Amino acid sequence: MRASTTSARQEIERLQSLLPDLPFEVFYKEDLLRTGVSFSEDALRVASGFKPKAYFIFSFDLVPISEMKRQENLRAPEEILLEGGALGFRPVIVSVRLNPASSYQVAVREGKLQLLLEGESLCDVRLQEVPEYYKRTLGSGKPVTDIAPTIEWGYLLYLTVFRQCQYFGAGEECQFCDINENYRQQKIAGRSYTSVKSVGEVLEALAIISEADSASRAYTVTGGSVISSLRGKSETDFYVQYPEAIERRFPGRWIGKVVVQALPRDEVRKFKDAGVQIYHPNYEVWDRRLFSLLCAGKDRYVGRDEWIRRILAAAEVFGPARVIPNFVAGIEMAKPHGFENVDDAIASTSEGLEFFMSQGVCPRFTTWCPEPISVLGRDQGGAPLEYHMKLLRAYRTIHRKHRLPVPPGYGDAGIGRSVFSVSSFMDVL
Ligand code: SF4
Repeated sequence: MRASTTSARQEIERLQSLLPDLPFEVFYKEDLLRTGVSFSEDALRVASGFKPKAYFIFSFDLVPISEMKRQENLRAPEEILLEGGALGFRPVIVSVRLNPASSYQVAVREGKLQLLLEGESLCDVRLQEVPEYYKRTLGSGKPVTDIAPTIEWGYLLYLTVFRQCQYFGAGEECQFCDINENYRQQKIAGRSYTSVKSVGEVLEALAIISEADSASRAYTVTGGSVISSLRGKSETDFYVQYPEAIERRFPGRWIGKVVVQALPRDEVRKFKDAGVQIYHPNYEVWDRRLFSLLCAGKDRYVGRDEWIRRILAAAEVFGPARVIPNFVAGIEMAKPHGFENVDDAIASTSEGLEFFMSQGVCPRFTTWCPEPISVLGRDQGGAPLEYHMKLLRAYRTIHRKHRLPVPPGYGDAGIGRSVFSVSSFMDVL
């Protein structure tokens, strides 16, 4: 773990000499994802003309909106692209997680945006132009950015059709997740932020995008878990109506993905029959004890063993390569329950990766940053950078060992080509 006297730069140099086979850019990307980034006033002024952060599901910030003194929540970009600089960065896309106290800052230097680490220039920063559809509204007056924002540099339409979760309160909500609190803070901040999107408004937004955009390649239908019912429908029946309608109206236009709970096989089949191509029954954390502590609602309603059985059953429905459970990388080390030692945490998650990958199911990661409005985010920093770097190496090693294909639905893999912005797993394949 980084000693308090070691600077971020020194720690990155130490880890780069320990893990020289990883692309140097991903050390910075993971550090940015776990610790966030600030923006100078000049940089915010420049960023205001580019694609803004849409808060597509969670806050992914290290401070609540109420503590953003310069309205960064309205002015910061969705993603930054790092390139060039003295080190010669190949293009790397990083999701923006706001943290005014970060060692990283985007500022204007020599007339252009640059990323600074501890005040020294690291590389240039490019921002994404505002897509034409981001300027449009629905007939109701809601902005397209509420109903169908894009991430991954425009590759993925992110359709959070239910912005809350029925796992509610500290005893049930996943401890790393701020979906319910984020919904509340966005409403207080005055953002157009629809709790339950209708099928009609999703189709209306997609029609605008379809006509104005050629960059998007995939959509994800997702949202919080439905435990009892939502608008009279079960989780499956609620979520499946969106891909059904999208595929009917725009057959094959995008790669359809859903993120819902691990469901029984006959429920999963409904998504396949609707035209969904990729299923994400997110597993979050491998360790049995941590799963029950950190994902208490999922553990109580479905259970860890049943969750695993359902992932493997879904692999028979979709084909193993098209079942991609997410792990929230880093929560294995969150206090007070997590592993204290990096290598123990890596050994645990590697066991999970080996279990799934040996059966053709290839998980993926979202790098954890402690959101202060989530339970785990209140009194701690993220997992050590060493953990994230060793995890990427373990992932790549196990992926190669089982000769698995690059996970579909994320665009190109490899450093300089990947667009996946909330983890570096696609940058290292
Ligand atoms: S199931 Fe867990 S991770 Fe998913 S939205 Fe609900 S609380 Fe968040």
